[in-house]
Amino acid sequence: MKRLSITLLATLYCVSLSAQDFSDKLTLVIHGGAGTINRANMSPERENAYRQTMNIALEKGYEVLKKGGTSVQAVEAAIHVMEDSPLFNAGKGAVFTNEGKNELDAAIMDGRTQKAGAVAGVTTIKNPISAAIAVMDQSVHVMMAGKGAEQFAREKGLEIVDPSYFYTEARYKALERAKEQEKTELDHNGTKESGGKGGVDQRKIKNGPKTGHHSVEDLIFTEGKKFGTVGCVALDKYGNLAAGTSTGGMTNKRYGRIGDAPIIGAGTYANNATCAVSATGHGEYFIRSVVAHDISALMEYKGLSLADAANEVVMKKLVEKGGEGGVIAIDRNGNVAMPFNSEGMYRGYIKADGKREILIYKD
Ligand code: ASP
Repeated sequence: MKRLSITLLATLYCVSLSAQDFSDKLTLVIHGGAGTINRANMSPERENAYRQTMNIALEKGYEVLKKGGTSVQAVEAAIHVMEDSPLFNAGKGAVFTNEGKNELDAAIMDGRTQKAGAVAGVTTIKNPISAAIAVMDQSVHVMMAGKGAEQFAREKGLEIVDPSYFYTEARYKALERAKEQEKTELDHNGTKESGGKGGVDQRKIKNGPKTGHHSVEDLIFTEGKKFGTVGCVALDKYGNLAAGTSTGGMTNKRYGRIGDAPIIGAGTYANNATCAVSATGHGEYFIRSVVAHDISALMEYKGLSLADAANEVVMKKLVEKGGEGGVIAIDRNGNVAMPFNSEGMYRGYIKADGKREILIYKD
């Protein structure tokens, strides 16, 4: 009898746990990219435009959570707003490759199921985050690239656009400047490959990361890092976490380069047992340090809090390696962490208690 009641109690406890209502913990966090973002290179109009669009993204995403939608649906809604805006380096505002094309990457991860989906190097999908979700929900794969991903998106009824949809003058000019800067640097200092006069002169690279090695790769990053990749992490009323990231990558990227955003564990990761993370910054460093999963692993294996884990990886490990950027992260209690080691990061959050903030600079 006693044994039966213990079993019954345990079952009831489990049922109540799984049916636990997280309505008072609903949280949605977004980022719009990290990089050389400071007051000196920002006009009030520009700042206002960023704030307005981020505010809409927060509201659209939060509305989904409020109505009982899932964290994956909320992430998609918030990211759509930023993908459709020319202000961010994702969707409509994507940066240009060395060849003058826009090649987009995106990923989603569902913290409940640990399922994930990603697309890389796509040129005709209007909202790559939706294609990533389709890969997660409607295929047996995790990542699809290029033409195949585009065919899949078309077959699933997603909106397909002509590649010219992604053209924006500002981004094209940024490519021209990046190429000019690269040419000047290489003319003066020889190429990295040939050795030249000892490679790129590090003192000539303005606005480069303050730590680590500078290289041709860093030059490519210099121009692109002024504009932001977008990402979102959310906690829904069912207690489920999700993370999504969408980007045009880095200005002047070559050779079919893929960044960290679509790589599960590097730029995007979610696990109900720990946290959901979306990253932005110099992708190569984020891939090598497996940033998003590293934060989760510190929580899982070392018992670190969300804030401590995110700080450890972004402010220590990445800084030591010279990797510039930041992350947004959230745990199941609705705690939020948004560390970055660059000059600024477009970021914001909205919570069930009505608290909402949109931040850009360090201070
Ligand atoms: N992480 C992105 C990439 O390397 C760029 C960014 O976040 O701005 O593709």
